[in-house]
Amino acid sequence: DGSTTTTTSAESQADSSKAEGDTAPTEAKGSKIGISMPTKSLERWNRDGSYLEKEFTKAGYEVSLTYSDNKIDQQVKDIEGLIADKVNLLVVAAIDGESLAQVLAEAKSQNIPVIAYDRLIMNTDAISYYVSFDNYTVGKLQGEFVAEKLDLANAGDKKFNIEFTGGDPADNNATFFFNGAMDVIKPYIESGTVVVPSGQTTFEQVGTAQWDTAKALSRFQNILGSYYSDGTQLDAALCSNDSTALGVTQAIQSDYAGTNEVVITGQDGDEANLANIIDGKQTMTVYKAVANEAIATLDLGAAILNNEKPDASLIEKAGWSFDCTYDTSSYDNGSAVIPSYLLVPVTVTKDNIQKELVDTGYYTMGSDGYPH
Ligand code: BGC
Repeated sequence: DGSTTTTTSAESQADSSKAEGDTAPTEAKGSKIGISMPTKSLERWNRDGSYLEKEFTKAGYEVSLTYSDNKIDQQVKDIEGLIADKVNLLVVAAIDGESLAQVLAEAKSQNIPVIAYDRLIMNTDAISYYVSFDNYTVGKLQGEFVAEKLDLANAGDKKFNIEFTGGDPADNNATFFFNGAMDVIKPYIESGTVVVPSGQTTFEQVGTAQWDTAKALSRFQNILGSYYSDGTQLDAALCSNDSTALGVTQAIQSDYAGTNEVVITGQDGDEANLANIIDGKQTMTVYKAVANEAIATLDLGAAILNNEKPDASLIEKAGWSFDCTYDTSSYDNGSAVIPSYLLVPVTVTKDNIQKELVDTGYYTMGSDGYPH
């Protein structure tokens, strides 16, 4: 599947109005929003795309939404197309954070503001704002979960074997996830409580190109074959997200001889992973409410188009019914310091899936007993 574009205008969704108390953007009429998402093949971006499209359309904007099939060249072309379409604002989740400087310089020269969505875009001064979750905290929650579950603080002489699976090196988020988790686990590696039998403890060694499930699966099969086939027990597989956790879980199901419960972390709440959590095959996922990320992006985008200077007070505005910090870390992308809105992620396990994901309305519990 190649690039896909859909255009939705306010008229087609005229019946849905914004939540009560939310201020309608005054400049919405006629403004066009270009949204560039990386791929439909990773579950979350489908949700992001449709939430963003829904929010902006409801607020009266015309929306063009593109997906670039995880191909860097395609994303450049898609953004060029949106610029040629004279969009008034670009919302971009980059496939490769290093490859968009040139096309975004073109956006800047045409006075099109750019919001970096979820993934920071590097080495360009064309970005007005960055909206994401606190990605370091995502990794920290994963690390803390493993530490608590294995009770590493009270391990005494016990030793635990852990393996790491990281994300796509082209994605700026991936190192934040890895570092957040590693910073929690590292003291235990240094003290000898945690052992990594594969010896793969740097981000470079554990990365997974394109966050690809099949790549994570085959790497983990190799690790299990090389370091665990002698009966060595694997205690935890610290995976940065759900697409990689899915591959690692499959490898453990097929290639691991041990009978202990392996603690497996993830991120996103992909449907297959939620099913695995309910079935006891994955232990947790870090959930990031992308519905709120879309609302944050709309409110920020509207402020930019209304020539307001968004700042921390935007968080207080009606419509932001969720926890968010503004510009806490002042992300430096190599060319500029990008003001950032960072939403707060939560840990989801079998015990709180109903409360966090179903009762909140993000998912509905299917008749098959799994959230959809
Ligand atoms: C996102 C994660 C996602 C990953 C793969 C990251 O940039 O923050 O939520 O799991 O990309 O799609």
